Amino acid sequence: MLRPGATIGILGGGQLGRMTALAAAELGLKCHVFTPERDCPAAEVCARVTVAPYEDAAALEAFARGVDVVTYEFENVPAETARIVSAHTVLRPGARALATTQDRLAEKSFVAGLGLPTAPFAGIDSLADLEAALARLGRPAVLKTRRFGYDGKGQVKIAEGMDAAAAFEAIGRQPAILEGFVSFAREVSVVAARGEDGAVAAFDVCENAHRNHILDVTTVPASIAPATEKAALRAAAAIGAALDYVGVFTVEMFIVGGAGGGAESIVVNEIAPRVHNSGHWTIEGAETSQFEQHVRAICGWPLGSPARMGDVTMTNLIGTDADRWREILAEPGARLHLYGKAEARPGRKMGHVTRVTARS
Ligand code: AMP
Repeated sequence: MLRPGATIGILGGGQLGRMTALAAAELGLKCHVFTPERDCPAAEVCARVTVAPYEDAAALEAFARGVDVVTYEFENVPAETARIVSAHTVLRPGARALATTQDRLAEKSFVAGLGLPTAPFAGIDSLADLEAALARLGRPAVLKTRRFGYDGKGQVKIAEGMDAAAAFEAIGRQPAILEGFVSFAREVSVVAARGEDGAVAAFDVCENAHRNHILDVTTVPASIAPATEKAALRAAAAIGAALDYVGVFTVEMFIVGGAGGGAESIVVNEIAPRVHNSGHWTIEGAETSQFEQHVRAICGWPLGSPARMGDVTMTNLIGTDADRWREILAEPGARLHLYGKAEARPGRKMGHVTRVTARS
């Protein structure tokens, strides 16, 4: 167990690292960020910064030796980076969580192996594999690269009549997974923490709306039946336990059926081994934020209450949306977060705004 005054190492310098460092500071902890880019959101709020590539073994070793635990704010940490860090200090979440969630095929196989519902899927290494899988799973289907996909990148929907070879070409003929298309009613996520002792604290299920494949608005509570919410929380707990997970993780799910479309149920889509954009609402909307919860978990401290404080919406400020900062500041009850990024490129997450109202 770490003590106040200890130092957390964070791999990755984005806004997730920044908000984790801010939460750590409130609990009397220091952060040391390891980032390939000097100008990054996390570096501005961390006590120490190492600027080096993730492949720099000497820099990684010095970083790991100087901190009490290392965590990461993105799931594509190279396996060798994780190995070097783990040789000198504790890495939380561990290498197993990283390996499982970095690869969409390993991830789906793991989830299905737990008996949880997923889209039907097949591993794809060649055009012949793709053609056979399309014949089996039908169209439309979604072809995704096994690795390095995010915000809809590295994936293509294969509609009726579309050429399989063109689709394989579009993702760079990389090792891939083909998924049957899920006609979902809504998208939700479970953000949960698992402590060193195996205790799990999950936030209420939140509902996510995307714009151009990027999270736009998160609403809590999600419009799902209590039994569906229970199933979603049970699935997340089972995933956390099977990964022997320590820290905050997020399980994105589709909701199928409901409201005249038959029984409502969950389909697990993706696991993120980290704090998540769909959990930003917890900063004002829950008794303990996802960032504090992650810090507590990786320090070996007791988890806080995840109880929700009201009905919440969290809206991302993408690109020039953040230019409205004065207007948002003037709005009673709106809580503005800006990540300190200088340049508002299209599609770039610049900040978010959270609104909490009385519980319905
Ligand atoms: P992912 O990168 O897996 O999170 O996918 C990005 C988005 O694509 C999801 O949020 C869904 O809106 C959509 N999507 C992904 N997989 C499927 C699927 N098998 N069926 C239908 N829509 C999907």
